[in-house]
Amino acid sequence: MTETLSKNCYPVVIAGAGPAGVSVALGLLEARIEVLLIDAAPDMGGQLPSIPSPITNFAGGYKATGKTAGIDMKDAILAAAENAQEEGVSLTYLPNYQVATFDARTNELQLKSTVKAEALTVRGDRVVFCTGYRERRLHLPGQEQCEQAVFYHGQGEDGDTVVVIGGGDSALLKLLAVAPQMKNVILIHRNKHFKARPDVIARVSSLPNLEVFLGSQVVALARNAQTGKITVTIETMDGASRQTRPADWLAVKVGYLPNTEFLADSLLLENGHVIVDSSLRAYDKEERMLTNVFAGGDIVSGSFPRIATACGHGMSIAAEIIKASFENGSLPDQK
Ligand SMILES: Cc1cc2nc3c(=O)[nH]c(=O)nc-3n(C[C@H](O)[C@H](O)[C@H](O)COP(=O)(O)OP(=O)(O)OC[C@H]3O[C@@H](n4cnc5c(N)ncnc54)[C@H](O)[C@@H]3O)c2cc1C
Repeated sequence: MTETLSKNCYPVVIAGAGPAGVSVALGLLEARIEVLLIDAAPDMGGQLPSIPSPITNFAGGYKATGKTAGIDMKDAILAAAENAQEEGVSLTYLPNYQVATFDARTNELQLKSTVKAEALTVRGDRVVFCTGYRERRLHLPGQEQCEQAVFYHGQGEDGDTVVVIGGGDSALLKLLAVAPQMKNVILIHRNKHFKARPDVIARVSSLPNLEVFLGSQVVALARNAQTGKITVTIETMDGASRQTRPADWLAVKVGYLPNTEFLADSLLLENGHVIVDSSLRAYDKEERMLTNVFAGGDIVSGSFPRIATACGHGMSIAAEIIKASFENGSLPDQK
């Protein structure tokens, strides 16, 4: 595996080295097709390293944490790259480069380094987007002074009041985990109903120290310099009423966003997700199917955002590319 570009056009360029992108690369390397794999992050794995809990729904095996799954995945791609290299086919892996723009007419990608002031241009005969999800973050007035008390992962150490923001499984499970050690637990959710599993909602509803604000959102944060506590301003979604609550820290679990902003001018998207056909081929803005552009994993419209889905998409895309290469007579001999 090399980590520098040796040319400006590759048979296949994959954007995103999470489970979907790595699965595309694994499938192609098995067929001895050269790949350029690009990721904005310094290491492979996508969301996997950020999963603290065991992975129990993946046929690839039980994983103690997402980090473990990421390490196993990296071992797999390193071994595949080594095997392919023995037959003269290389994997080029470019970490710390973000795809900034894509031109669907030329298959050209503009890349920006995430660590230095450098930009590159590269083209793929085929291009695969597997850029996944990122956490949705809060951007509230006053948040800057309270940043140390706002947790997207982990939790605050001290205090007696926590505010949890969100209404899905992550938010409610977090609340259940911290409730026993807190005096007051406040739950705030924009919708009138929770999206979490019914059993989780039932357990949350029975907590004795819980105050719930449904159909409400946090609109501002402030730090009280004397007490060190955070003042949370909560407003109903219609803006009709406002209240404040003091808190020691906040747990924020407000969902995920697809990393597709850079595709908005080139591909057909729906709520930020790439629309694909049954072979995971994308469409341009004029709704023309693009034979050589694919998308897989969480960013696919209607996809179930799971590791197994991402791996399945990745291998299906690899199969389409192998099939097309074979039809063109360009598939290298399988040994
Ligand atoms: C807390 C948590 C718990 C989860 N638990 C489970 C579970 O138990 N079981 C399960 O099956 N799934 C679970 N998931 C979901 C699972 O992690 C995702 O479905 C899976 O990682 C999606 O893979 P992906 O390859 O589509 O995207 P990702 O894993 O998001 O990978 C995308 C990659 O693309 C890169 N990227 C983004 N934008 C660009 C760009 N412009 N240019 C270059 N690179 C870019 C990112 O850096 C990232 O490395 C969990 C997720 C989270 C956050």
